[in-house]
Amino acid sequence: MKDLQVRIDNIKEKIARAATQSGRLPSDILLVAVSKTVDIDVVEAAYKLGIGNFGENRVQELRMKVHHLPGARWHMIGRLQTNKVKDVVGQVCLIHSLDRWNLAKEINKRGRLLQTKVPVLLQVNIAGEEQKAGVNPDDIEHFLASAGELEQISIQGFMTMAPLVDEPEETRPVFKELYQIWTRLRRRSFPNTDLRYLSMGMSQDYEIAIQEGANIVRIGSAIFHGEN
Ligand SMILES: *Cc1c(COP(=O)(O)O)cnc(C)c1O
Repeated sequence: MKDLQVRIDNIKEKIARAATQSGRLPSDILLVAVSKTVDIDVVEAAYKLGIGNFGENRVQELRMKVHHLPGARWHMIGRLQTNKVKDVVGQVCLIHSLDRWNLAKEINKRGRLLQTKVPVLLQVNIAGEEQKAGVNPDDIEHFLASAGELEQISIQGFMTMAPLVDEPEETRPVFKELYQIWTRLRRRSFPNTDLRYLSMGMSQDYEIAIQEGANIVRIGSAIFHGEN
């Protein structure tokens, strides 16, 4: 577990540096450790080393891990089927992957049943990649303007995934664009919406994402497998 400690310290240092470069405090950036496919023992070791937030992309695995480590804060970051919404709402502190209106209606319904307000991020497909989920940037405003119908949801910001590239620097324009949209729409008022979070950046590109304004990064392989 010494390696795990070293990798976490190293990443925290890089996060702190990127935060400073973008005029913010290291504590302004939330690190979500993406623990998908990682053994629960290793997740627990990371938790004991001070990692408090974990992200999962499969519902069954998420539920198993929440059960084993209820003290941690869990994030749903993967594509969510409407028939699995009932297994996620109430289990996680934030759903990053709200990518369509249908899903919003379903989450809203579940929130009403549990009498809870469900925090979500709107996933945006900046690069317009067909295989990727997310709303089209041009549709964000309409989505938010319609959020009056979602009284059991709190839309707390945006999430995006940059395309996989050989050269991390190529992701910068994607992060820049979502930051600009976020900044513009934050000045406006929408129902059931408080755009405080910008979730962008993974192992390959989190420093760039932070430099461009991200305040949540989702890092998996660099923590758990020592890549990047
Ligand atoms: C897997 C995953 C990550 C983390 O990716 P790494 O390259 O392992 O850091 C981040 N966000 C989402 C949505 C993911 O599915």
